[in-house]
Amino acid sequence: MYLHGTSKINVANRLEIGGVDTTELAVEYGTPLFVYDVALIRQRAEGFKQAFENEGVAYQVAYASKAFSCLAMYELASELDVSIDVVSGGELYTALAAGVDPGRIHFHGNNKSRDELQMAIDADIGCVVVDNFYELRELEALCAAQRRGMDILLRITPGVEAHTHEFISTGQEDSKFGFDLESNQVSEAIRLSMASAHLTLLGIHSHIGSQIFETDGFVLAVEKVFEHLGQWRAEEGFVPSVLNFGGGFGIRYVEGDTPLPPSAYVSKLVQTVKTLTQQQGIDVPEIWIEPGRSLVGDAGTTLYTIGSTKDIPNVRRYLSVDGGMSDNLRPALYDAKYEGVLANRASEPTTEVYSVAGKCCESGDMLVWDLPLPEVQHEDVLAMFCTGAYGYSMANNYNRIPRPAVVFVENGKSQLVVKRETYEDLVRLDVPLKEKVEL
Ligand SMILES: *Cc1c(COP(=O)(O)O)cnc(C)c1O
Repeated sequence: MYLHGTSKINVANRLEIGGVDTTELAVEYGTPLFVYDVALIRQRAEGFKQAFENEGVAYQVAYASKAFSCLAMYELASELDVSIDVVSGGELYTALAAGVDPGRIHFHGNNKSRDELQMAIDADIGCVVVDNFYELRELEALCAAQRRGMDILLRITPGVEAHTHEFISTGQEDSKFGFDLESNQVSEAIRLSMASAHLTLLGIHSHIGSQIFETDGFVLAVEKVFEHLGQWRAEEGFVPSVLNFGGGFGIRYVEGDTPLPPSAYVSKLVQTVKTLTQQQGIDVPEIWIEPGRSLVGDAGTTLYTIGSTKDIPNVRRYLSVDGGMSDNLRPALYDAKYEGVLANRASEPTTEVYSVAGKCCESGDMLVWDLPLPEVQHEDVLAMFCTGAYGYSMANNYNRIPRPAVVFVENGKSQLVVKRETYEDLVRLDVPLKEKVEL
């Protein structure tokens, strides 16, 4: 069994995270429950930052907060001195409400609304990562009308295919994100940005995909950008002061996933940039990265209570848990794989194989196929590892299932950071017909 971060099996044969017995967490807070190993998040953030420090370059590590977003997570990110990426007004609102320094917030997205751009201007955030010509015109017009300025990066699609699942790859040319590098759209966007009296073009952004296990893709992306720098300098007079290479650093979900340590991705990126800047005789720009999954993914564990089981002789044994695609959409969406253990009997021999079903009314609501476990009993607590990224943040109310609670654990203590949704919460926005205004 692979245990992440501070996870271990204690003398009572139970899974412990951050020095806290997970079966006690299940009793105290109920299930399903997301449990975050705060020490592991700290370790990851430090790992990325230290790698840049070792390379001696100016940098920003920005947490791509779509992976997991709530007030406490933004507070923690601020404490860890990382910047914040947001992709919607809702994430921006939450980050600001958590007291994140607006100057450290970067705003992404392929279809930011006028209201969202206005929020960014009002809050005076660090930069907007402009995705397309429509946004460039909108942002320029809003800034001009209010005599405000905004720093921007231009998101480009470098045409690099990361070795990953097709649906979560965004670096190919055929992508909804960013300005296409090959068809001169980027040069045009640079020209428009440089001509703007209100927008300040800091540099270029690319993000080649997710769950990437090698550095080749990043090296290719750096090379692609540098192939065009000469032209941009000659034709547009543009020399970037920031190059942002996005996120996508892989983590270990299951056996066979072989991520590199954070430092390996960073040093390869920085060294490639250093070599190419030297060749082109320009200063090394600030280098930014945007880890999401690799900061919080394996720090998260979901606790479920096992309910019904179903044995189909010689075919399959199903066990059902009290959550499913309502708290973890990734298996249904990406065919994502997970490992897990019985939290209350963590070191018992795994003599059986079960497929873990969610409780939603979809045959596709399967969390894990073929998970080795001991013979399970009702009320056992199943811990599913590595659910910290794109788990809670994709949680939904399908079948009107309330979203789980979230706790942080560290040094033997737990703290509730997101309350469990209640049935009352579920109808909070509903307007009953009996309140209808007669026309
Ligand atoms: C999603 C995203 C990230 C983070 O990706 P991870 O795979 O979670 O590290 C970073 N940058 C951008 C632009 C993204 O869209």
